[in-house]
Amino acid sequence: MIELEMIFIFVHLQQIHWINMEVYKFGGASVKDANAIRNLHRIIISAGTEQLLVVISAIGKTTNALEQVVYAHYHDTGEAFVQLQRIKEVHKDIARDLELEDLLRSGLLDDLFVEAEWLLEDTVHDSYDYLYDQIVAIGELLSTRIVAAFLEKNELPVVWIDVRDVIKTDDSYRNASVDWTVTAANINAIIRPLITSGKIVLTQGFIGSTTELNTSTLGREGSDYTGAILASEVNATSLTVWKDVPGIMTADPHVDKSARLLLKLDYLEALEMTYYGAKVIHPKTIKPLMDKSIPLLVRSFHNPVQHGTSVSSFPDEQYPPLKVVLEDQILLRLSTLDFTFVVENHFSEVFQLVVKHKIKIHLLKNLALSLSLVISPAPEHLRAFIDDLKTIFDVSEERGLKLYTIRHFKPEDINHIKKSGILLIEEYSSETAQLLVQCTS
Ligand code: ASP
Ligand code: MG
Repeated sequence: MIELEMIFIFVHLQQIHWINMEVYKFGGASVKDANAIRNLHRIIISAGTEQLLVVISAIGKTTNALEQVVYAHYHDTGEAFVQLQRIKEVHKDIARDLELEDLLRSGLLDDLFVEAEWLLEDTVHDSYDYLYDQIVAIGELLSTRIVAAFLEKNELPVVWIDVRDVIKTDDSYRNASVDWTVTAANINAIIRPLITSGKIVLTQGFIGSTTELNTSTLGREGSDYTGAILASEVNATSLTVWKDVPGIMTADPHVDKSARLLLKLDYLEALEMTYYGAKVIHPKTIKPLMDKSIPLLVRSFHNPVQHGTSVSSFPDEQYPPLKVVLEDQILLRLSTLDFTFVVENHFSEVFQLVVKHKIKIHLLKNLALSLSLVISPAPEHLRAFIDDLKTIFDVSEERGLKLYTIRHFKPEDINHIKKSGILLIEEYSSETAQLLVQCTS
């Protein structure tokens, strides 16, 4: 009995400690150059929170640039090394701009490239996805080193942590699954004592490591998910994702001028939007937060006084039409080689290949004699997937299509889309319309 009470008091004390804990996640655009990093610094000092954990993505479009290095190496184009050196220089320029002489002199930035340079010197003997994770992870390691050095120089009590010591995953490279038990223990052992002693912990999004200590990644835009993993395990008061848009909008404001800001969004609605491919937040981000009732705040780093969007439990919220558009979709029509019906065993064969080649299906439609899949796989996976399908089916392929998903749709939204091109597939449920269109304009 006494023991039980002790445990209760202990747990209670721990919760008090974490009461004002906040997690901030800064995406690539929010650290894209020296001025952006200065702005991040201002946001952190005006946060006024006692306990802060900061998760950072790669600078600007670094992840894309590193992806190209992997591609060049794998296909032996001869450009990989030069491309990698260019990335190094961009980062050093930013460090120079921020007057981080100590960091430049320490060699820490150069060190981050050593392993990748070894890999590039060698011929390829590893899988594409394994190589990808080892090389692409440099982006987050670089950005966090630079930001940490800048905050430290400005006298903030920052501690840089290698998140690969904390977030443990399986070896599904490029889309690794988190081992929550080990990760939670690491958060308690590594991050908790630092935060309680008044430090700001700063770490990388997107990356983790396997039990063999290889680097893994959580999928593109995975830093949001890192924020959610850490926020959920420290029982944060909220996770704030700082972006270059005012919050979550009814459509992508970069392409749709009619997009409006949503002030409130229920967890489940946000889950649906990310499932259909809304780019604003990584799809795995919502669930861990929802399980612990931790609000997700999406705010603009251009305008940090604005409230942005709050994603939380708002079961009665009414929504205007919410639009998600996926570009460059591929439609595969599969029919049997002997013109028989597409039946259950065909489905099973297709899904086995979908899993094997890590394909994400955005829309699926079956008719008696054909099965249509709408997908947008990484180009490295597409060819092998189609080749495997061709051993079982007759496969026709159409590219460059747009997939519109509209939640809470109105007839005028549908008409507008139909006018924009040739309609290939339409699917409706009570709340959601999906239209696959070949654009004519
Ligand atoms: N840097 C990674 C990417 O661009 C992860 C992230 O930004 O969330 O996908
Ligand atoms: Mg990014």
